[in-house]
Formats: sequence, structure tokens, C-alpha cells
Amino acid sequence: MEANPNNNPDKLHRIIIKHPALTEGKVKSVYDVDAHRVMIKYHDKVTAFDGKKKAKPETKGRICCLISELLFTYLEKQGVKTHYIDCPSLDTMLCRKLTIVPIEVIVRNIAAGSVVKNTTLDEGMVISPPLVEYFLKDDAKGDPLLTPDRIRLMGIDPEPMYHIAKDVNLHLQEIFSQLDLDVVDFKLEFGYDADGELYVADEISPDSMRLWGKDGRSNDKDIFRKYGSDEALIAAYGDILVGLRQFAV
Ligand code: C5P
Repeated sequence: MEANPNNNPDKLHRIIIKHPALTEGKVKSVYDVDAHRVMIKYHDKVTAFDGKKKAKPETKGRICCLISELLFTYLEKQGVKTHYIDCPSLDTMLCRKLTIVPIEVIVRNIAAGSVVKNTTLDEGMVISPPLVEYFLKDDAKGDPLLTPDRIRLMGIDPEPMYHIAKDVNLHLQEIFSQLDLDVVDFKLEFGYDADGELYVADEISPDSMRLWGKDGRSNDKDIFRKYGSDEALIAAYGDILVGLRQFAV
């Protein structure tokens, strides 16, 4: 952890206790720290199908926070700009304050999930080169698929996000290959700082990725989506955290 007095864990913890969240997401809350920083608390919650299915598995918040910390740190070392600054406690992340782009960027290496549901592709088909897709980040509208032209009409240039997403894909494939896991797909969110710099934001964890073992088994949120088992979910996420610590970062 950085020895920066501005990152004092007690001071930052008081922000969470004393102030209402800036935004309350399904599994995370964002708190204002100062003009340049926010604090993100990862809760012991898991949701699927737009929040229709939910559970509160103990330790899940800290596991996802710590996995995200390792992956953000790894990506930073590879030259990818991320919002991560520090982890003042196990389940809270100090991050850059950004204006979040209202788009979810999905990268797919293997067909699964919505691309199987909404096309003629068979599950498990290798997608090469990888597919980069964009969805509107708006639950009320059902997060519809966007085209690059629609994104440009929204006043947003998709190109920088496209290139960063492809780059992140290579780095994630590299890191998870050491754990014998295939990166099937993952979601990224992005945000701009006050100087117009683009950063990878939100979280990168098995909550926002599909990771298949060589036996084809899920090591990600599909365990909860398909079987509703939060115990198996925590076991799989825990193994990933241990694996990342041991081999990769
Ligand atoms: O549902 P779909 O197959 O499009 O999801 C692709 C990937 O993006 C999956 O790994 C899923 O967990 C992730 N995702 C996410 N948050 C969303 C939508 C998808 O993390 N809102």
C-alpha cells in the first residue's frame, strides 16, 4: 500500500460511515472523497438477471475487490490506464473520479451468453479475431446492443475504447492462461477524467467475466446464474484470487 497520508484508511473509512453514497449500484457503492477521487465499496452481494436473482455470500465483496486490485495493478504495469489508486481496506478501492461513459464494452473470444442467445452462433465456438461489442448502460432500457454509428451519434468516439479493450483482452488472456483458464468474454467500463484522459473503470473480476477451465466448467458468475450456488461461487472466486497471487502478479 502507498504510504500516502491522503490514503489514510481510517480517514477514508469515516467517509463511508458519515456520508451517503454518490451512487448505489447492485453490488458496489461509490463515495465521494475529494475533487479527484472516489472510494468504491464492494458488497457481499451477487445478482443476476437484472437483479431478479440475488444472494449475499459472505466474503464476496473483499474477494472481488482483491481480484480487481490485482488485475488493475497488472494492467497498469502493462501500460493500460485504469481508475485504480489503492486498496485502503480489503473491500474498498480508492479510485480516480471519472465521468463514466454510459456504455458497457464486451470482448468475446468464445461464444457464450447473449451472443449465443441472440445469433446463430453455437456455444463454445472460438471467435477469432475477438469480437468487441457495445451495450447501452441503462437497465431501464434493457441494456440494448449499440452500433459504432449510434455511439458516434451519442457524441462518443468508440475507437479509443475499442483499442484499449483489445489490449486488455491480450493481457487478461496472458494472465489467466497461467491459471489454465480460458477468457471466454468480459465486460469493461470506461470513464474520462477532468483532463479528458480515458481510463478503464468499474471492476474486473469473475463477476464481469466468463472463465472456463480446460474441462469446460465455469469459474465465474455463471455458477450463480445457472445453479444459484453462492458457496460454489465463493470457492471458485477464492481459487482465482489464490491463483492470481501465486502465479501471475
Ligand atoms: O450477457 P453477455 O453474454 O452479453 O455477457 C458477456 C460478459 O459480460 C459476461 O462475462 C458477463 O458477466 C459480462 N457482463 C457484465 N455486466 C453486464 C453485462 C455483461 O459484467 N451488465
